[in-house]
Amino acid sequence: MIKNIGIKVKQPGIECNDKKCPFHGNLAVRGRGFVGTIIKKDLHGTATIEWTYKHLIPKYERKETRRTRLHVHNPKCINAEVGDIVRIMQTKPISKTKNFVVIENLGKEKGFAERMAAKGEAKFKEKEKKEEAETKEEEQE
Ligand SMILES: [Zn+2]
Repeated sequence: MIKNIGIKVKQPGIECNDKKCPFHGNLAVRGRGFVGTIIKKDLHGTATIEWTYKHLIPKYERKETRRTRLHVHNPKCINAEVGDIVRIMQTKPISKTKNFVVIENLGKEKGFAERMAAKGEAKFKEKEKKEEAETKEEEQE
């Protein structure tokens, strides 16, 4: 049984027994919605997502890039991975820092690993190196 959450999104392919799932649990979505990229996941169904926006500074007639980071609930049936672009929707407070839930996975962000590596996140640099090594090995074969 899939619940109608009131927003036109792609239905999750599998069923889950997550109480905090808007499709299979008791969680209603309401309020504000955003689209962002997952930058971190933990073992308890929480993901950290971030997105950027431009803010105008009238005095200098320039725009600066600002960033929002949020903790969101990642239901088991969607289970989006780091680097995925997701649509989120506000809910009642799920825990101390979570009051948003992932409702749709929109696919991989292009050049995510490169973007994180450029920011100096060591974890992604290692990954990039590994991938480089792997592609080199493939070329040799
Ligand atoms: Zn579910």
